[in-house]
Amino acid sequence: MVSKFWSRIVNEITPYEPGEQPQNHQLIKLNTNENPYPPSEVVLEAMKQAASGDLRLYPDPNCSKLKEAASEYYNLPSDHIFVGNGSDEILGFCFKAFFNPQDTILFPNITYSFYEVYARLFDISYKTVALNDHFEIPVEAFFQENKGIIIANPNAPTGKCLDMDTIRLILDKNPGSVVIIDEAYIDFGGTSSVELILEYNNLLVVHTFSKSRSLAGLRVGLALGQSELIEGLYRVKNSFNSYTLDRVALAGAEQSLRDIDTFKTNVNRIIQTRELVTGRLRDIGFNVVDSKANFIFISHSEVPAVTIFEKLKQRNIYVRYFQKPGIDNYLRVSIGTELEMNEFYEGVKEILKEYRFRNDRTNQD
Ligand code: PMP
Repeated sequence: MVSKFWSRIVNEITPYEPGEQPQNHQLIKLNTNENPYPPSEVVLEAMKQAASGDLRLYPDPNCSKLKEAASEYYNLPSDHIFVGNGSDEILGFCFKAFFNPQDTILFPNITYSFYEVYARLFDISYKTVALNDHFEIPVEAFFQENKGIIIANPNAPTGKCLDMDTIRLILDKNPGSVVIIDEAYIDFGGTSSVELILEYNNLLVVHTFSKSRSLAGLRVGLALGQSELIEGLYRVKNSFNSYTLDRVALAGAEQSLRDIDTFKTNVNRIIQTRELVTGRLRDIGFNVVDSKANFIFISHSEVPAVTIFEKLKQRNIYVRYFQKPGIDNYLRVSIGTELEMNEFYEGVKEILKEYRFRNDRTNQD
């Protein structure tokens, strides 16, 4: 649809499409990389306390207490920390804060599809860097002229992770560009670039509370970088909406950063389950990309991904399928509880059996 009332960009843009959010709780939901474990009691209690009569008052626009907790957690000064309503919002602010329409920015051709949507929304030119057949990023492709680079590390939807030497190389070769490392999934086994922040004034690291911290429903993200970049983000935020985080979210997120035990326990459980299911799927003919995230990216040698996707859905198991060249025979499967992954695995095994049985019958006819 087009409208004479819409701007040119809104007429032309294809908005980002999140994975399905069915409201039926009976199903096994492995399609949007949420954490299968709930937030801790401490976090929930802090939120209950915040849901008080004080809600008549605006929240702290500077998010001071949350920033204090983040400052301790990351060992960075608080002017190196930006707080946003989910990391998607922060990524959107980055496009406004750091890039101009005549600039060209770079990101991989297979990555989080929101980057392209933001580039279009903010009218920023972009070039994509093609991944190789193993979904690896050819690092030299980031040595061409650009004003900005965005890399999801680990990458989505592949789960592949770059090491610190590669990130350093990209930063060294692009001193005049803002290099944004989106670390939505870093806690599941990768090494964080946060350790490079004091060394590089062109590095911005973006984190979310939606994955490793079990708070996708709360909408909280952080950007970490030197104060020059952080100040740029605050200029955008304060020209758009002073109060992006509500009181409940501020309270929950602060406690989450302080409750390190629950965080570590849940992350380790997810990593263990991921490794277990990776091995089992490889044993039954799947190519499973090595993942450092809370999801795996899988493809089967005989059965098309779309068939597995549809058949799983009939069994009330939701995974993510992207109808995009290069990855349209892959499925992205979030790591659920061990029980959920067992059901997923048993479902997949049945689907493979049915498919082979049907193929054998067709060949005999
Ligand atoms: N970056 C990546 C790579 C993601 O996969 C996601 C989740 N869809 C986000 C950022 C956004 O996370 P949130 O807005 O929930 O913080």
